[in-house]
Amino acid sequence: MELVSDVFDAVLGQDRAVSALRHYAAHPVHAYLFTGPAGAGMREALVAFTAALQCPDKGCGSCEACRLALSLNDSDVTWCERSGTTWKVEELAEAERVSRRRPLGAGHQIVVIENIELAASAGAKLLKILEEPPSRTIFLLTAEALPDSLATIMSRCIEVPFSPLSIETITEYLVREGFDALGARAAATASGGDLRRAQVLVRDTDLATRIAMWQSIPDRLSGVSAQVAQVALDVSAAIDAAMVPLTDLQTEEMERRAAEAKSLGQRGVPRRKEIEQRFRREQRRFRTEDLRFGLSALTHVYRQRLVEGLEGLDDGDRRSRVMAQGALRCIDEIDRASRGLQNNIDEQLMLTNLFLTLARQ
Ligand SMILES: [Zn+2]
Repeated sequence: MELVSDVFDAVLGQDRAVSALRHYAAHPVHAYLFTGPAGAGMREALVAFTAALQCPDKGCGSCEACRLALSLNDSDVTWCERSGTTWKVEELAEAERVSRRRPLGAGHQIVVIENIELAASAGAKLLKILEEPPSRTIFLLTAEALPDSLATIMSRCIEVPFSPLSIETITEYLVREGFDALGARAAATASGGDLRRAQVLVRDTDLATRIAMWQSIPDRLSGVSAQVAQVALDVSAAIDAAMVPLTDLQTEEMERRAAEAKSLGQRGVPRRKEIEQRFRREQRRFRTEDLRFGLSALTHVYRQRLVEGLEGLDDGDRRSRVMAQGALRCIDEIDRASRGLQNNIDEQLMLTNLFLTLARQ
């Protein structure tokens, strides 16, 4: 049997998930749960899978059904929108309402709900809407984490697991995109298996400068003239600069979608609001990741001090003991700040408090 599912070409390095999805497209059930980390290609796989489900040939990539689904123009595919950091009961009630509709086309009524781990108090509602959906309705859910509270929901879905992308897969992809091998590998290594982050980092020409800026912080915080507030401002400014390649990529994506919409005779970009919300979430997430990345560069400096202090300790040097103890406290404080990072923190307040604590050690 020949496989003609080119819609999955956009999904990188997830051969197992993709071959499962090709199979499921031919024999669909009523709910799938994609699980895996951000940037591993779940979103691309969702888009491809909606096309494969709607296409008479299970994802040829060129028919009308495929084109509509791939450009997010299929009115039988609903991408549920989340306005806050968690899903609200009303938002899931809307998903349920849509799921009861008969599809307008010949395919399925598809309802996509991403990040169901954020359903929190609306979890019971989510569970309820998965009960006995109409025969032509298919739910596509995703989760980046699988808390125990999701166990019952999982039991009602077929799970499709995604792994973090390997450094090799990301490097090869970036090289195919035209980036030099060394830069591609550096970005892939720093990306933690997140393709989107790698795409931003490889365009970031100031990565080395930014790491140096983080590593200069301990010196700037020492002595009586510690410039805590200024250091915090400098860090935020550096992250602002690091965001530019991301917002450039987002602008490119919106332009591409506008051109697609025009070629399909649409007046505007479909689901523009949802896309803009996703961009804002992506920006917050990137900021948090970049802070975490910077804090780990900062930790590195205190680790070196700790090692130096411990080495001096062998010679019974009192200054070395003080240095080692100070470095250890700093490492703990940075670790605490890093673990407390969320997408909605007051960045300046967090940085100022942390730097004040570090300056006192
Ligand atoms: Zn097709």
